[in-house]
Amino acid sequence: MAAGNAPTRPVPLREVAHWDLEADVVIVGYGSAGASAAIEAAAAGASVLILEVASGSGGTSAMAGGDIYLGGGGGTPAQRRAGFEDRTEDFQRYMMLAGGPDADAERVRLYADSALDHFRWLTEQGIPYRDTYLPGKRMAPGTGDCLIWSGSEDAWPFNVEARPCPRGHLPEVVGEMGGRVLVETLARRAEALGARPYFDARASALVADEAGAVHGVAAQIDGEWRRVRARGGVILCAGGFVLNADMLRRYAPQVARLADDPLSAGYDDGSGIRMAQGVGAAAIHMDELFTTLPFYPPESHVKGILVNERGQRFINEDAYPGRVAIHCLRQVGDRIYLLVDDAIFEQPTELSRIEIAAVGGSWEEIERELGMVEGTLVSTVAVHNRHAARGEDPLFHKTAKWLKSLDEPPFAALACHIGQAYYPFFTLGGLHTRPTGEVLGVDDAVIAGLYAAGRTACGLPRSAEGYSSGMSLGDCTFFGRLAGRSAAGAAPGG
Ligand SMILES: Cc1cc2nc3c(=O)[nH]c(=O)nc-3n(C[C@H](O)[C@H](O)[C@H](O)COP(=O)(O)OP(=O)(O)OC[C@H]3O[C@@H](n4cnc5c(N)ncnc54)[C@H](O)[C@@H]3O)c2cc1C
Repeated sequence: MAAGNAPTRPVPLREVAHWDLEADVVIVGYGSAGASAAIEAAAAGASVLILEVASGSGGTSAMAGGDIYLGGGGGTPAQRRAGFEDRTEDFQRYMMLAGGPDADAERVRLYADSALDHFRWLTEQGIPYRDTYLPGKRMAPGTGDCLIWSGSEDAWPFNVEARPCPRGHLPEVVGEMGGRVLVETLARRAEALGARPYFDARASALVADEAGAVHGVAAQIDGEWRRVRARGGVILCAGGFVLNADMLRRYAPQVARLADDPLSAGYDDGSGIRMAQGVGAAAIHMDELFTTLPFYPPESHVKGILVNERGQRFINEDAYPGRVAIHCLRQVGDRIYLLVDDAIFEQPTELSRIEIAAVGGSWEEIERELGMVEGTLVSTVAVHNRHAARGEDPLFHKTAKWLKSLDEPPFAALACHIGQAYYPFFTLGGLHTRPTGEVLGVDDAVIAGLYAAGRTACGLPRSAEGYSSGMSLGDCTFFGRLAGRSAAGAAPGG
């Protein structure tokens, strides 16, 4: 893991005797946010130069399933074909709730109003979509089908706030290569429009004048120091900070409870955030950490109940597993169990590292085996079973179709322990920006010449509890585009 959490001091403009390279727009990072920014800036007529520390485009985006969260406006072609009419107001309400107490209303409105256009734009760039729908609870199906339920839309409390609708859109790619196809397609398009990528090019500091305005970047390209001038602006699209141990300790210390499973292609070291902090940028929601607990597949396990080490339930298990995982982290103690009966038990996936902790012919036996206080687990199951048999969950409001009385022995407790089971994670906090991508300082004023998008910024997904799969790539591609347009517009003649 990378080290260092201090802001990176900028290179003073007065010390730059000459520029080695120049462009209207200079983009740091060539993942989905950087590629989307490059396309829009180049399409607006700007000259575009991309600095990428790796030897090719992709970043963490290329590891992703490629799920993009889209809807509203009556529905995308896949939503309509599957019989869902997704109203913009429902989409917007869901996104507001998902964004948590500091949801950015302006950003959400813009995204909800424009998501159909954004889907069209993605297809125009060449991303293939099949318009097919897969019902049920899925994680990265890898079948090439398009539409899936990828969040908590049909789970409490979201399902009472907004009419449920599936909104995860996957490219037509078999296997888990959706993210790679997404970025490669966007990168090809950016380069066809004239964007110039420099690989093995690590941006190290911004170049700023005495007033704090950004004029360029200092970078090491193929081992040589270069000063790169940005006439319109620098766009930081360098990913998050999930690989920076010092930043995690400072901002998101809860990560120490998890096993070492960061979701990153290798360069999420917070360099983009720290460079911007060096010119006075504000970073927000730095403690928000997406994590998830893949306790399904098998889908039948959604009918189980999760309990903490006191034998108490704490969440409706039909919520998105990312939301479930955050509630697991909120429990006292690291021991979390999924209780199942014979009718719903299937071997958990190897990936999940969920192991069988206890098996018994009665819940009393399981309780004893787990060393819980007598009566605690047994009464939790009894209360659950009594209501589930009537299709009700008055405590946590799980929807009826996932309710089942756990009364068919043998019974089992599956260990989903924090620090042991697979809780992969990445950071959601980042630079405070306007929807235009303009970076804001700690005084809330715009920093001239500086833009950010993707996980370097704190965008649409800013509350781990509300995260739905597809929100990060939706944010990266949509707000990456806006940042590209803004920086191009700020270039001379732009
Ligand atoms: C297995 C997996 C599956 C996922 N599935 C989904 C999904 O289906 N849907 C979804 O929405 N999200 C998904 N995510 C999350 C999502 O992939 C990321 O949040 C998103 O791709 C981040 O994109 P980005 O453009 O901000 O960063 P990246 O794609 O990581 O791009 C940043 C680029 O910047 C480069 N860089 C970093 N520092 C520097 C520097 N100093 N100088 C130059 N270059 C630099 C990096 O090398 C990288 O190429 C998944 C993640 C993983 C790992």
